[in-house]
Amino acid sequence: MAATVAIVGRPNVGKSTLFNRILQERKAIVDKTDGVTRDRVYANVEWSGKHFALIDTGGIMIHPKGQIEDNVRKQALIAIEEADLILFLLDGPTGITHIDHEIAQILKRSDKKILPVVNKIDDVKHESMIWEFHNLGLGEPLMVSALLGRATGDVLDEVIKRL
Ligand code: GDP
Ligand code: MG
Repeated sequence: MAATVAIVGRPNVGKSTLFNRILQERKAIVDKTDGVTRDRVYANVEWSGKHFALIDTGGIMIHPKGQIEDNVRKQALIAIEEADLILFLLDGPTGITHIDHEIAQILKRSDKKILPVVNKIDDVKHESMIWEFHNLGLGEPLMVSALLGRATGDVLDEVIKRL
């Protein structure tokens, strides 16, 4: 069975943008016909000859009327159950928020591999924003701009290295 990679993070960090960007990567081979649920939150991706299932957890609808933070926690728990590797997405310009800390605690309690990735690093001058994310205690964060496709390939290289 192919490994599963889940993109986890609080709302608006860019999970869906990254998911769609990865699906558009030139070198990524994406099977759009299977592994897809009603909400199209799953995709089967091949990168450098390795296959994995990618999940955009924001597309998993749980109690749509529930509180956002409650929803985020539940999505993190589902992702922990399903995923071999969790891509913990963070928002560089916003910095670390209390919800990020909460998600980090949940992820740390799991035995899953965690890759912290700081999004919205659109320009070289934003790169210093990633330093504060070392404070999450999850290791060296990667940087990406899902919107511009900046360093998306580096993230995929690291993902398959860790699978
Ligand atoms: P999600 O709630 O985590 O799925 O976040 P979305 O993918 O819906 O993105 C939330 C907002 O952030 C949207 O307005 C995106 O255009 C914006 N966004 C996502 N990625 C980037 C990025 O790399 N740079 C910038 N500047 N904005 C981004
Ligand atoms: Mg989303």
